Amino acid sequence: MTNRVWFLSRPRVCETTMISSDGISPTSLHATKTFRYLTYHEISNTEPEYRYSVSLAKFAEHARCLRRLADVRHSESGSCPITFDDGHISQFDLALPVLKEFSIKAIFFVTAGWVGRREGYMSWKHVDEIARAGYEVQSHGWSHACLSRCSNRELDVELRRSKSELESHLGIRVSAISAPGGRWNQRVLLACHDAGYERLFISEPWATTKKQDGIEVLGRWMVTRTTDENEISAWLKGRGAPVALARMRNLATSAVKRAIGDRSYERVWRALARKNRSIESQYSGKETKT
Ligand SMILES: [Zn+2]
Repeated sequence: MTNRVWFLSRPRVCETTMISSDGISPTSLHATKTFRYLTYHEISNTEPEYRYSVSLAKFAEHARCLRRLADVRHSESGSCPITFDDGHISQFDLALPVLKEFSIKAIFFVTAGWVGRREGYMSWKHVDEIARAGYEVQSHGWSHACLSRCSNRELDVELRRSKSELESHLGIRVSAISAPGGRWNQRVLLACHDAGYERLFISEPWATTKKQDGIEVLGRWMVTRTTDENEISAWLKGRGAPVALARMRNLATSAVKRAIGDRSYERVWRALARKNRSIESQYSGKETKT
């Protein structure tokens, strides 16, 4: 299989409004274009219990589907739809070989403070190998703190320290960040811009790419253990029953968030997501000395 640049959907202008996770609609945002992105967290050799872990067999199925869509939709663009958050070791051990097999590009958003320090997550050697293989490595903050809840000083660490550590360890330019927990607001947006980021990726699937003062905000679809290739295909094409159903679910979620508040919603979400030990460790503060 040739190792060519590929993409899935042509840019288009869209008029939808983007709302931050605080329910604020940032002013002066201009719709520019829409690429559709998918987000993976963990890949599992066995049938996963954690909602945001995808079995290796299913991930390979998705990759085959993406390859097929890319082969159908020839384009000159280098945009890729796959993103990974957190820097879990399974992204290196299990996902990377599949990406290589199908010649699929991806962006790896790494929690810089976890690299080489947290059990179950990648070392600098792993991340360096990913970068050297031609994949984009970008920031997922320093400690996975929700950016919208950080003080200005904390926000500075999350944005600037993660960027500088990734750049100095890997010798790359870091220009994008994905917001941990998808939490962001206009203060976060401006701080990202001031720290030198050009793109902020969020967890809102319906967000249309918007640009303000040189920084783009891009929505993503969170892939779960039950996501099948029909849903992947529908999402990337932007139509079909799975998309309509997901939009209804998303509207319901937003309504619950507004009704009970973001923090209460997060507590309920964590209880219902049946998180296994790998995601729990993200919040436990446990670190290993490696
Ligand atoms: Zn994360």
